[in-house]
Amino acid sequence: MEIKKQLTTAPKTKPADESKLGFGKIFTDHMFLMNYDEGQGWHDARIVPYGPIPMDPSAMCLHYGQADFEGMKAYRTSKGIQLFRPYENAKRLNVSNDRLCIPAIDEEVFVQAVKELVKTDADWVPHNYGTSLYIRPFVFAVDPMLGVHPAKHLIFAIICSPVGAYYAAGLAPVKIYVEQNYVRAVTGGTGFTKAAANYAISLKAQDDASKQGYEQVLWLDGVHRKYIEEVGAMNVMFVVDGEVITPSLDRKSILGGITRKSCIELLRHKGYKVTERDIEIDELVKAYDEGKFDEAFGTGTAAVISPIGELKYGDKVMPLTGGKIGPISQMLYDSLTGIQWGKEPDPFGWIVPVE
Ligand SMILES: *Cc1c(COP(=O)(O)O)cnc(C)c1O
Repeated sequence: MEIKKQLTTAPKTKPADESKLGFGKIFTDHMFLMNYDEGQGWHDARIVPYGPIPMDPSAMCLHYGQADFEGMKAYRTSKGIQLFRPYENAKRLNVSNDRLCIPAIDEEVFVQAVKELVKTDADWVPHNYGTSLYIRPFVFAVDPMLGVHPAKHLIFAIICSPVGAYYAAGLAPVKIYVEQNYVRAVTGGTGFTKAAANYAISLKAQDDASKQGYEQVLWLDGVHRKYIEEVGAMNVMFVVDGEVITPSLDRKSILGGITRKSCIELLRHKGYKVTERDIEIDELVKAYDEGKFDEAFGTGTAAVISPIGELKYGDKVMPLTGGKIGPISQMLYDSLTGIQWGKEPDPFGWIVPVE
């Protein structure tokens, strides 16, 4: 595919202090755009200066939320700039697209677009260990009309943001409570996709949690309100009696994370027992009372591994691992970031260089 390039004539100043990058606050000089128009398919792939995207006030995405996204990272390593399993993102975007009646994007086109944009803004990939270039591909419907119907005109865009080490002071355990008022997803809905709307409906719970001094919520399934699904916008794993357990994706209300999948593959490769199955919240409480609840952690691209230091369910407060990082959480964090940073061998073929 040919990608036309229009380079900026006014490059921005790059952040001087990489320790203050934070997450998703500054953006690189360029973005990728491609249009879909019925009859033409996806066309006009181009890299242009980062800036506003004009659209009609009646554009469908603004009213009905026909929009989805991906999240991935590029790492500056001693072997050059590298991506982590980008074809998984390409595949998953099409899973989301299909559920939202958005026309599929060729996986090769997706990966080529990501590579080309990262190469164009290569100077923006930060250098310090733990920093990375966060890449945000997203699709939104722009038909200028208010009828509710699948769009005939859409835009696929990619923007990039240099981000700091998620935990500036090393892996830090977070406090989580089990959400009992709100649900995130139900079977038959969009929980298995990165539909933009999934995040809008999760804000209220997140807001309540922050007000009570908790970092995130643990979501229960929307039907029985007892099976564990995810933690915030991360997948969740538990170590109970030495075994790693994680909710299965069968109910199709859980997002199939690439970090989740990688953790499962890594753990099995290293000989750990990992089971994907239904997990009832009461089962964890029981395990806790019996002294068998060893560890809990979230998994996702942004944080990689997020150890859970305290879990609260109703009035029951369950501190875990004595405020420290559990051994499996630490091992997964070190192994995954080691592969992403090219400091460890990659026996799985997960790394894709941008060059
Ligand atoms: C993106 C996301 C994850 C994590 O997926 P990764 O591919 O590991 O980044 C988990 N849960 C939800 C709801 C997400 O949006």
